[in-house]
Amino acid sequence: MSFDLPIQPPERITGLVNGTASLGGGIDLPVFYPATGAQIATLTEDDETAVARAVEAARAAFDKGPWPGLSTAKRIEALEACRETILANVDELARLECAATGLVLKELRARHMVRAAYNFRFFAEYISQSAGQSYTQTEGYLTTVTREPVGVAALIAPWNAPVALATMKIAAALAFGNTAVLKPSEQTPMALARLVELLQEVLPEGVLNIVNGRGAVTGAALVAHPGVDLVSFTGGTETGRAIMSSAGRNLVPCTMELGGKSANIIFASADQDRALDGALQGIFSNNGQQCLAGSRVLVERKVFDDFVGRFRERAAKVRVGDPLADDTEVGPLASLAHMNRVLGFVDKAREDGGQLLVGGTRREDLGEGYFISPTAVLAHSNADRCAQDEIFGPFATFIPFDTADEAVAIANDTAFGLVSYVWSDHLPTVMATTPSLRSGVVWVNTPMMRELRAPFGGYKTSGVGREGGASCEAFYTEEKTTTIPTAPPALRRFGA
Ligand code: NAD
Repeated sequence: MSFDLPIQPPERITGLVNGTASLGGGIDLPVFYPATGAQIATLTEDDETAVARAVEAARAAFDKGPWPGLSTAKRIEALEACRETILANVDELARLECAATGLVLKELRARHMVRAAYNFRFFAEYISQSAGQSYTQTEGYLTTVTREPVGVAALIAPWNAPVALATMKIAAALAFGNTAVLKPSEQTPMALARLVELLQEVLPEGVLNIVNGRGAVTGAALVAHPGVDLVSFTGGTETGRAIMSSAGRNLVPCTMELGGKSANIIFASADQDRALDGALQGIFSNNGQQCLAGSRVLVERKVFDDFVGRFRERAAKVRVGDPLADDTEVGPLASLAHMNRVLGFVDKAREDGGQLLVGGTRREDLGEGYFISPTAVLAHSNADRCAQDEIFGPFATFIPFDTADEAVAIANDTAFGLVSYVWSDHLPTVMATTPSLRSGVVWVNTPMMRELRAPFGGYKTSGVGREGGASCEAFYTEEKTTTIPTAPPALRRFGA
């Protein structure tokens, strides 16, 4: 079986600086369509010299261009133009994203691209409300606190939702007056390459640039470049460590949106039908490849067998297949290596004493694409690798619990702390549980509701810093305190 390509992408993808192809200089990298395993494009890797040229373009746009000093009204106009550009090109961008990620096209159109456009609207609205502060506490003086752009932002994005995640960074960096160099994942460069090409047409020269290539080459050169003033990273925890230590040498601030192994806690007091829908959505949406997946499903023992039985039945019926088909619920995983890694956790679960509940195999009937059947295992304990490691696929790990305290202890017994889910209709249970959960976000009786004004980010190894309205304002701006006397102050007259 084979599947049609969502779009014929350009044969070669390059970085873009000031509207022209970046210098490249590195090796050629293949880009594959995950639904067929076929190579569909070649990516030109940018080496250190090419990265330096992109940073210099962003630097010049910041130091000499109009962008950082633009009035808020003008910057809002530019952000709105970015939003309209995305909305006018939703289909093409969604198809390019589908071709590199294998994510379901319908979802990309209806959610990812709409969200990408909204990211620009959100920050346009946010800056329209931003206000400074002033103090007059010391008599005879007026002190103002203003926020100013920091400079050149290095924005490094992962492969699991490239456009939706990268536009949050681009919109935030630009809204607060910074210029930027974006580095997409080398696996999924196509939609972001096209998006930056389109946005360069509506933004002043040098404000937004893109470089491409492997993390250890292009990404590392970008982070280490002395012309970069801040780094916003979304990706794996180990990569986050490497980036932070490199940025630390230049004393450059970072935000790190990293991995997760989030607990989805289902109490017997929950509406079981809704909790079941929530658990399935929590692990199978975005092909299971999301940092905020509810990948450890903790179920109160009283309802455990019943819940797991119903989950297995539904998981076995999830429609896996062609990302272009409207009724597909789970598409292929992002790469062959990733699919093999995810499937490897079935053996690891068994070796650790766990048991396969459903799925666990490659869907060979779907051809050469990286399809697996939606999978769940019963862990022997929370110490198992399937309960501790981020698997990042349509793979749920079930663990029973008896009391709320035990559920919280299991939920917190992980190196991660991105999100937690709690399902219960008993308010005292919810109120007793949520404050003890060591995660940056807690969702009660709902999966994945991201409120953009609110901070999003992780405790422990799930992150450093937060994204969201005020959190982005704090990260993407420098605070400046200016004190002016309201009448000539008395001065000490040294040497008079
Ligand atoms: P990754 O860490 O492998 O790569 C992310 C990006 O970093 C890529 O662009 C990569 O090329 C680049 N990179 C790699 N090494 C680098 C280096 N030394 N210097 C600079 N850049 C480097 O992550 P991934 O596999 O693309 O994405 C999956 C991971 O992202 C998962 O762990 C997932 O949980 C995490 N993630 C987190 C969030 C969040 O908001 N917390 C959201 C989505 C994904």
